[in-house]
Amino acid sequence: MEAEPENCPGVGTENAGKSSACAGCPNQALCSDPNTKLEDPGKALVAESMREVKQKLLILSGKGGVGKSTVTTLLSRYLSRKYPEHNFGVLDVDICGPSQPRLLGVEGENVHQSGSGWSPVGVDDNLCLMSIGFLLGSQDDAIIWRGPKKNGMIRQFLSEVDWGKLDLLLLDTPPGTSDEHLSIVLYLRNNEAPDSLKALIVTTPQEASLLDVRKEINFCKKQNLPILGVVENMSAFRCSCGETSEIFPAKTGGAAAMCAEMNVPYLGALPLDPEVTKACDLGEDLTNIKNSTTDALVSICQKIIGTLEIEEVY
Ligand code: SF4
Repeated sequence: MEAEPENCPGVGTENAGKSSACAGCPNQALCSDPNTKLEDPGKALVAESMREVKQKLLILSGKGGVGKSTVTTLLSRYLSRKYPEHNFGVLDVDICGPSQPRLLGVEGENVHQSGSGWSPVGVDDNLCLMSIGFLLGSQDDAIIWRGPKKNGMIRQFLSEVDWGKLDLLLLDTPPGTSDEHLSIVLYLRNNEAPDSLKALIVTTPQEASLLDVRKEINFCKKQNLPILGVVENMSAFRCSCGETSEIFPAKTGGAAAMCAEMNVPYLGALPLDPEVTKACDLGEDLTNIKNSTTDALVSICQKIIGTLEIEEVY
């Protein structure tokens, strides 16, 4: 097989041989033949780059705006502080809205390239980040990429970052279930250790969001991607006066009822907390202070840790 072009939609994917990038590609006949089972050469490159990454956790959401990136930030901050002897990484694959550099307080940092690939930016001694946000000329630059180009960038991200030894890599993905998600799963799945890739789903309590989460759960089931559980974010607003109100009313029972119905683990709920919003905007870590949000976060992280067996990694 010849080297695939930059905008290749991914050998072995649904669009292989059919996308506009395939026109004129020397592999088109092979890729579009349904009787040929081809493996994307990028998969071996990703496997090589990730060989020392023990566990990968895809953070998914059915909809945008449910706080998936904030939950990713909170989890990575808490886990890296709680387990200083372990190494954690965050990969911001939300290539159309990369927010992790700001949320993790490293906006404006430069990514360096060495012989072994891009070096992620250090957030803490045991926490690093790679994001498309570091590669943009300006914070206000828009990324307008069509499908194949996005897939090419994802493959590059997954295969050309020098992660070194990581116990857990959290991947902040775009919302929904698109081609990008399919590519990410295909590239990251390790057939010899299928449990090393899992999904965590973030939702808000209202039915409009839960409808899309059901699709996300079905996507994971179809892809045989183990679901670690569902986190309900912004479940209630706690005012400084002590009053609690439901901004997104859980008229159908919220995430807990949906999890019971879909037979997936419910990990817990995080409140809508202005302190979290403020800390994330400033890139500050608030996981070391004690309040109702961090209490809820600790309980969710304990369930996650139990499933990922972080303690047993080394
Ligand atoms: S998927 Fe398309 S672009 Fe990629 S190698 Fe196959 S024919 Fe070429």
